[in-house]
Amino acid sequence: MEITLSTREAAAAIGRSVRTAQRWAATGKLTAVKQGGRWQITVAADVEGYKPFQLDKARQLIEDGGIAASVRRPGIWTAVSSDGTTTYLVHAARCSCPAGQRDRQCYHRAAVALLQSARTAA
Ligand SMILES: [Zn+2]
Repeated sequence: MEITLSTREAAAAIGRSVRTAQRWAATGKLTAVKQGGRWQITVAADVEGYKPFQLDKARQLIEDGGIAASVRRPGIWTAVSSDGTTTYLVHAARCSCPAGQRDRQCYHRAAVALLQSARTAA
């Protein structure tokens, strides 16, 4: 499924500045089109099965800087809970949040899918 990201979202996903995301969009390093003066960056993300509101929450989590790659454990991400009181360990296929423990697709895993596809694209 193709997902369109703003430069701000893409910058957060690839761990670079907004300026870098804009430059990579302009030079074609990221697949992007300019619409109304703003870059729309397209990435192919494996987010089948997620509901639109989950993708919105995932994008908000990324944009807020609420999810970060683990330095010590490749493929593992740390996400801040929506109320900010706890953190969860997230993998593309598993999450330690309450929904994840019930084997449900949570928006943390959607965020990881978006982040990993944006990094692959960059
Ligand atoms: Zn989760």
